[in-house]
Amino acid sequence: MSDCIFCKIVRGEIPCRKVYEDDEFFAFHDINPVAPVHFMLIPKLHLASLQEVDASHTALLGNMLLLASRLAKEHGLGNGFRTVINTGKGGGQEVLHLHLHVIGGGHIPPMVRRD
Ligand code: AMP
Ligand code: ZN
Repeated sequence: MSDCIFCKIVRGEIPCRKVYEDDEFFAFHDINPVAPVHFMLIPKLHLASLQEVDASHTALLGNMLLLASRLAKEHGLGNGFRTVINTGKGGGQEVLHLHLHVIGGGHIPPMVRRD
């Protein structure tokens, strides 16, 4: 996708603080972190969101979770971490390229406030 900012990051057209790269995935620090560790893991394949996936993406999605767990550990989050995937307008997604937030370190507040 020529005008997708995350595709541009993968292609090196927009700078980023790279965390990891292989043939299938790319990870980079969030430009506006909400915790001491906050990076994004994305497939290099442009998929707009979890609303676009089907059974052909089963392995990709599984590998993405396995890699998230491994990268979290490598970034000092052995105590645990939060993963977030915002999906579509109803899920507050801002960048329309599927991405998994990996967040941890410091205080992680409850995700949903019940008051
Ligand atoms: P989401 O609401 O899940 O779509 O979140 C998009 C995330 O992308 C936000 O946390 C932004 O801070 C982050 N972001 C946007 N542009 C960049 C960029 N150029 N480099 C790194 N992170 C970015
Ligand atoms: Zn893209």
